[in-house]
Amino acid sequence: MNRSRPYRFETLAVHAGHGVDPATGAVTAPIHLSTTFERATDGSYPQGYLYSRNDNPNRHALEAALAALEGGTGAAAFASGLAAVTAIFQGLEPGDHVVAPADIYHGTANVLKHLFAKWQVATTFVDMTSLDDVRAALRPTTRIVWIETPSNPLLRCVDIAAVADIAHRAGARAVADNTFASPVLQRPLALGCDMVMHATTKYLGGRSDVLGGVAITRADDEAYAQVRTAQLYGGGVAAPFDCWLVMRSLPTLSYRMQAHCANARKVAHYLRAHPRVSAVHYPGLDDSPYHALAQRQMADYGGMLSFEVYGGRDAAMATAAHVELFTRATSLGGVESLIEHRASIEGPQSTTPPGLLRVSVGLEHADDLIDDLAQALDRSA
Ligand SMILES: *Cc1c(COP(=O)(O)O)cnc(C)c1O
Repeated sequence: MNRSRPYRFETLAVHAGHGVDPATGAVTAPIHLSTTFERATDGSYPQGYLYSRNDNPNRHALEAALAALEGGTGAAAFASGLAAVTAIFQGLEPGDHVVAPADIYHGTANVLKHLFAKWQVATTFVDMTSLDDVRAALRPTTRIVWIETPSNPLLRCVDIAAVADIAHRAGARAVADNTFASPVLQRPLALGCDMVMHATTKYLGGRSDVLGGVAITRADDEAYAQVRTAQLYGGGVAAPFDCWLVMRSLPTLSYRMQAHCANARKVAHYLRAHPRVSAVHYPGLDDSPYHALAQRQMADYGGMLSFEVYGGRDAAMATAAHVELFTRATSLGGVESLIEHRASIEGPQSTTPPGLLRVSVGLEHADDLIDDLAQALDRSA
């Protein structure tokens, strides 16, 4: 890439980490499955690669691309989103404290409650839409304030700049899970966060065919060095083929997100006017309590929404049972639209309304998605 001037997002998405292979002239990247790399006679590693847990050309390219897209200085790619989450918390020590949102991704909550609590890293879960609650939860030992916005499954939005500022005043770092928004819509590092995490499994991969995670840092600091150490010694690295798949999806990210957002907006407006729907949770609706904040900190409102049907659990399950185009499945961010009854997947301790269905709006024609929801709501009445 010619670095004499800064490139815009779409240009970076096509070119950052991408380049003609110097060995063969191949325009698209080969997949480097080799686990080990030859040393020169003097013992050095002429290409800089030694062993694939340390570094690998495909992972190297993906990390460069993701750092560029989030505006960071470095990135570490992992085998899943939760492997990235785990590596970030592995930088903490016994006695350290974390503040996290009460409606945090359930897998991240599991990491904190079931892995790190045993190592004396305590977490206080708060309603992060209340800045007073965030301030009240801080302790002298608080090291990380974890932000996730929009949240799952109610699409609540947290003021990233305000929470990052509160964290910094308390001597803690602000880390944002940017999975639901993607760097096209929201840039937490520019809003003051120290680190961004993604499940590349979702919008960045974009095809529901690869698991991955990444931690992207604003500064080449001690906390990032700890993440790199966890990656190298812990070994939860992303495989070369998985890196290649995510790289393959990045050039279309901006265009996919525009279409996800446009479709979600249409589906949200349709559902809001439906007599069997009691609530639609989507920050793009102008009566959403998060609309003004989302308008300020996001470029658009995303492809995720949830809605509640009258009649509770049975009505919601019946609606999901009657869809023909949507697929009943968890996860998000793929080209295909998914619908999911959250309360039953979260189990008995779930606080999700029983009549709620979460939707990942895909890239089909919006009218076909609306027609499918219309017939499913009719037949389940
Ligand atoms: C999916 C997801 C994760 C975890 O990613 P995995 O690849 O499933 O480990 C973390 N945070 C959010 C918001 C997610 O949607």
